[in-house]
Amino acid sequence: MYYPRSWTKSILRLFTYLALIVLVGVYLENVTLVLLIASVTLIVFNYLHLYRLTKWLWQSRKMSPPSAPGLWEHVYEGVYYLQRRNRNKRRNLGELVKRFREGSEALPDAVVVVDKEAKIVWCNRHARIEIGLKWPDDSGRRIDNLIRHPKFIEYFHSGEYHFPIEIPAPTNPSKTFEYRIMTYGEDQLLLIVRDVSRVSQLEEMRKDFVANVSHELRTPLTVINGYLEVLTADSNDENPFVQKAMNEMGTQTKRMQALIEDLLILSRIEASAERIYENTINMTALLKQVETEAKTLNIDKQHNISFKVDDELRIFGVETEMRSACSNLIFNAIHYTPAGGNIKVLWKKRAGGAYFAVVDNGDGIEEKHLRRLTERFYRVDKARSRKTGGSGLGLSIVKHVLNHHNSFLNIESKVGKGSEFSFILPPELIYENSLDS
Ligand code: ADP
Repeated sequence: MYYPRSWTKSILRLFTYLALIVLVGVYLENVTLVLLIASVTLIVFNYLHLYRLTKWLWQSRKMSPPSAPGLWEHVYEGVYYLQRRNRNKRRNLGELVKRFREGSEALPDAVVVVDKEAKIVWCNRHARIEIGLKWPDDSGRRIDNLIRHPKFIEYFHSGEYHFPIEIPAPTNPSKTFEYRIMTYGEDQLLLIVRDVSRVSQLEEMRKDFVANVSHELRTPLTVINGYLEVLTADSNDENPFVQKAMNEMGTQTKRMQALIEDLLILSRIEASAERIYENTINMTALLKQVETEAKTLNIDKQHNISFKVDDELRIFGVETEMRSACSNLIFNAIHYTPAGGNIKVLWKKRAGGAYFAVVDNGDGIEEKHLRRLTERFYRVDKARSRKTGGSGLGLSIVKHVLNHHNSFLNIESKVGKGSEFSFILPPELIYENSLDS
């Protein structure tokens, strides 16, 4: 334990020493000479201990300090105490680093620590096995020189690490790896790589399954519907039950057909490899077509629908997908707004890109549903949705289309006031912009 030494004690000691010297000087009748000799002795004594201290600090292997009298003993003890404290701290820190590394080695994922200059600081065993890093040879080498996939390089340099990316494994292209980067400390990056081959295989299987089942169901349903239409037209059965049954069968078959069509659209968009920058869309013409269809749908509802469209605003994208997204949003507004409502459709350029919005003054949607609306088959009111003939896939289709076009759906709604469904396509997708640049 460290005990601060009392300064009064040290000063008292010095004064006693000086008083004794003066007494000796008086006794020998030459105070000046005695004082001089005493001062030189004091300086030599202190220099000697300074020398011993330096030697102990820099040359000696002994941990314990040499013994010394008076103030010097205290100095030695102070230095010894500080050294011991530092040594304990270093040992604790070393233990911590060791435990962290052991923990990281035990992780089922590959972990790489990268500094602000993209140089590898450390990696665990899985990083060596899965990404093929060599340790310690690759220490200090740039990570973007070792993982060369263009998608990874783009992700790494983007500085936007909110979402992970999935790319084939560098050591085995049949495997899919998820790369996730996290920033921490002073510009340090933590790269976590996880094998998601099984998950992406299952996801592929799910997509294929839905696409195949929908496709297989389409033909028999078309046949059933065809026969039902013929039978209903030719039927001169007076029995009201038979009439009702025929009509109900017709309605339900059509619902199933609509559902199958939506499932197929969704599967197509999910599997779409079409490049969005290859074709342009004439949004004015597209929205005109949707407007005509909307008018037919609106016959019963008699809404006041207005279209405010910027005719100059053309975009890059996939036309069939964009038509699905816009029509779903507009038809939903017609379906879910009580008769005689107001619906506004906007398409214009605005800060941040090309803005599309459908605003209605319908019943609105409770806050708790908003987050889940784009999930497949999620409906606020199942019975009502079925009555409108909805498949529950409309907003899910919109979400996928927008995702494919580097955008997302924004939903604002207030119960009793109405809803606004909107999205902004990024400026790079605006056709004029790309011509100007
Ligand atoms: P559906 O085929 O049932 O319409 P969607 O995915 O298109 O499925 O919509 C999901 C749910 O979101 C609907 O069931 C409906 O409850 C709600 N919804 C969508 N658009 C609106 C709107 N404009 N106003 C109120 N509710 C809406």
